[in-house]
Amino acid sequence: MIKLHDKYFKPFISEEEIKVAIRKIAIEIAADYKDEVPIFVGVLNGAFMFVADLLKEYPHLCEVSFVKLSSYRGLTSTGIVETLLDVPDSIEGKSVIIVEDIIDTGRTLQELVHLFSETNVKEFKIASLFYKSSVYKGEYPIDYVGIEIPNKFIVGYGLDYKELGRNLSSVYQLNQQHSMINLVLFGKPGAGKGTQASFLKDKYNLIHISTGDVFRYNMKNDTDLGKLAKSYIDRGDLVPDEVTIKMLQDEVDKNSEANGFIFDGFPRTTAQSEALDNFLSSKGMLVNATIALEANDEVLIKRLLERGKMSGRVDDQDEEKIRNRFEEYNQKTAPLRAYYEAQGKFHSVDGIGSIDEITTRLSDVIDGLLD
Ligand code: AMP
Repeated sequence: MIKLHDKYFKPFISEEEIKVAIRKIAIEIAADYKDEVPIFVGVLNGAFMFVADLLKEYPHLCEVSFVKLSSYRGLTSTGIVETLLDVPDSIEGKSVIIVEDIIDTGRTLQELVHLFSETNVKEFKIASLFYKSSVYKGEYPIDYVGIEIPNKFIVGYGLDYKELGRNLSSVYQLNQQHSMINLVLFGKPGAGKGTQASFLKDKYNLIHISTGDVFRYNMKNDTDLGKLAKSYIDRGDLVPDEVTIKMLQDEVDKNSEANGFIFDGFPRTTAQSEALDNFLSSKGMLVNATIALEANDEVLIKRLLERGKMSGRVDDQDEEKIRNRFEEYNQKTAPLRAYYEAQGKFHSVDGIGSIDEITTRLSDVIDGLLD
């Protein structure tokens, strides 16, 4: 086991397995391009080692160059990518093999395809040493694949965790048990997620992120985000995904040294849960467990109306708005149960009882994860 920054990683793919995969790719490309001189274009930084070893195995004449894209900013769908090192002029009319270390969701690949589509190359193909086929969302087929891997966070052989680990000659995977713990608290409005999160965050030294609280903070301070969210929240509707996902990511990024997070009120839609998984996995993190606090609607309505009298929350004061929030929950959030069950991460806890009793029930689940 090795430690990079605050996280532990265990051996995953050996140097020998990598060598075999690279030889296989080199032979496949050589068969396709034996009659011409292709140019291999490595995508920095991650692909530097793969490019070097691939070219040593390549049996014919070839050229080599590199491109570098900045990381994504903002939202997935509208992410802006800057080219830090551009496609060389010399590629005109040539056959290009784009060399990537790893392809997961395909966001970077989409940008590369876009970049190369605007050049006058004869054609271009993609070669990736590692490929996470289960999370790949792109349409472009990967032409040469070394090793298909599950959706795990890996380092080594060019790949990094916060810039460390690139010089390892084999590949390691994140050892979650020695790393952080991330929980999703799940349940209808009024189920007690916020109350319980405030106890659990102290007990387990976690950062509590309540998307509802962040929205309310922004509304109180009349920020642009607050103004945007207000109309949805006051009606008891969900705020649009792209706004909420971006906000959540910013909150996680603000706490990069955290031991883990309690997500309260997020995710609330399938798009949010997928975005959370992708976002966390890009940081070597994952959701360890989703814990649902179960209570029936009539109990919850009583609780919320009581809370509304004390807090002044507009969305807690009117039964019709509360019922609309339940409706939003039933339609958009309830299906997430199956999403987390399929990952074996769903736990259910009885949300009726004293605050202490419920904290104990939740702690039992969390302690079970830590064993
Ligand atoms: P809460 O305090 O969690 O009950 O959230 C209050 C309101 O904030 C909700 O009714 C939504 O309008 C909005 N909101 C909070 N979290 C989310 C989310 N994950 N997605 C969309 N809207 C949200």
